[in-house]
Amino acid sequence: AVLRRHGGQRAALVQILREVQALTHWLPREVLAAVADGVGLTPAIVEGVAGFYRFFHLQPVGRVHLLFSDNVTDRHAGSRHLVARLCERLGVVPDQVSADGAVSVGLTSCTGLGDQGPAALVNQHQVLTRLDDARIDDLAMRLLAGELPTAWPSAWHQVMPQIRQAGPLLAAPPLLGESLHALLARGADATLAELATSGLRGRGGAGFDTARKWALCRAAPVPEGGTRVVVCNADEGEPGTFKDRVLLSEQADAVVEGMTVAAHVLGARHGFVYLRGEYRFLLEHLESVLARRRAAGLLGPGILGVEGFDFDIAIHLGAGAYVCGEESALIESLEGKRGVPRIRPPFPVEQGYQGQPTVVNNVETFAAAAHIARQGGVWWAGLGVPGSAGTKIHSVSGDCARPGVYEFPFGVTVAEILAAAGARDTQMVQVGGPSGLALGVGEFDRRIAFDDVPSAGAFMVFDATRDPFEVAHGFAEFFAHESCGFCTPCRVGTELVKRRFDKLARGHGSVFDERELRALESLLHGTTHCGLGATATNPLRDTLQRFPTAYARRLQGPRFVPGFDLDAELAPARRVTGRDDAGAHLPQEG
Ligand code: SF4
Repeated sequence: AVLRRHGGQRAALVQILREVQALTHWLPREVLAAVADGVGLTPAIVEGVAGFYRFFHLQPVGRVHLLFSDNVTDRHAGSRHLVARLCERLGVVPDQVSADGAVSVGLTSCTGLGDQGPAALVNQHQVLTRLDDARIDDLAMRLLAGELPTAWPSAWHQVMPQIRQAGPLLAAPPLLGESLHALLARGADATLAELATSGLRGRGGAGFDTARKWALCRAAPVPEGGTRVVVCNADEGEPGTFKDRVLLSEQADAVVEGMTVAAHVLGARHGFVYLRGEYRFLLEHLESVLARRRAAGLLGPGILGVEGFDFDIAIHLGAGAYVCGEESALIESLEGKRGVPRIRPPFPVEQGYQGQPTVVNNVETFAAAAHIARQGGVWWAGLGVPGSAGTKIHSVSGDCARPGVYEFPFGVTVAEILAAAGARDTQMVQVGGPSGLALGVGEFDRRIAFDDVPSAGAFMVFDATRDPFEVAHGFAEFFAHESCGFCTPCRVGTELVKRRFDKLARGHGSVFDERELRALESLLHGTTHCGLGATATNPLRDTLQRFPTAYARRLQGPRFVPGFDLDAELAPARRVTGRDDAGAHLPQEG
């Protein structure tokens, strides 16, 4: 039935695998073979795709599979203690299925709930927020009693918007066609000109000029029988970011209206929202927004009664792969493939989804574009500072009294955001997530702007009790895990960085290791295929520079220290063989 619903299309492979797994809990070989048969691919290709995404299980998991968010701010909030407590209560080992097959518990990357963690995913379908000892104990009892997640208290699944500071994007009433009326009154050319006047730049991190991107796509030839395509990148995978979650739950009409404006400007008929798998709980809400807009003539054929203004949107769920936030990897995933970034050129605006010119913009970018279409470019350009027009939404989490989302005009200082969030005794702020910038005391008067401190939206606060080395170590683990493996410097380099961090954390570090870390840092910056590898060592670079003592206290001295105790490793063999040659005890210093 799943295959039939998707017409056996290869492009729907990730969706098909998601839906099949929801029925079977995991994906045994025979199931993958049946899917392969249904979509006309070899089992090896289908297994290769399934193996790429973290949320597809090629080994059994429990009928209730719990994945705890493992971002560093979740760890600081006690997530690992909660995992240990739950496993102890259930009598299970992390990452192993209970003897009766009922439950399994594991860790996953940031789930986008850093403002209300510790949090967990339940069968990648529901979320659990604000977990604490009492909730974990109650959860364990219910699981041991065989209670299904559908019977758990609804408060456990509650996700609050936590809008602490609203500006023109977050405070606006729902857009129900106002931008589309303005667009039609002004015309596509003039609307594109307004966008150029606004100075809007992409909110996903790279900050590319939005009007320029749309103009390039508009100018690209469309293959025969094809169309241009509009894609909303809602794969908000950067640890510590959750502002797109809030926009999608509170301002979905603005996002969809922005996509529809783009469609008319570009001459696009098809659109996608690529929704990160962790936000599966938003799917029904988004589907209802699309349905309501279709019924109101704001989506579908002949929008607002205008002949030829045909545009509709499908929602595509991701399956847990950070790299799919990169636009060409996202397009590969939309086409049902492994999310490996493409070699460019051609750029997606020339040849994107199925070879068609495609614009990929962030959720916040589309929301801003909708308001610009209505209120004009001069209005937006009047907000913010030169070169960084408009407002920016920040996801504030970590050591502060008021975590949540804050919308400020560009130009706000880091100190102003810290004060608004009630942060005290702050030692470090990670702006823009692990791939962004770590700032220390003395830098908090810097401004959020493309030419000072750019940000994709994460704002993680660490007070003086936190260890910057441990923060950077957590991010190193994240990047090693999320590297897609396509290019060697990133695949090997991120793992080597992580292992070097591990070694220092175990107390086996020396100046030699610090030198190696610096060498890896400069290597990764210049040699990787995509931005993930190029930015993977930013936390290392920033913390080494700003918090050298956090590293220095882990270094034993200038001489090489092995990462393990050779004699301890050889002891079992010596015991078994009864041989313990004094001459075989090599000195461990190099
Ligand atoms: Fe994949 Fe990393 Fe290379 Fe990007 S840099 S293509 S994530 S291996």
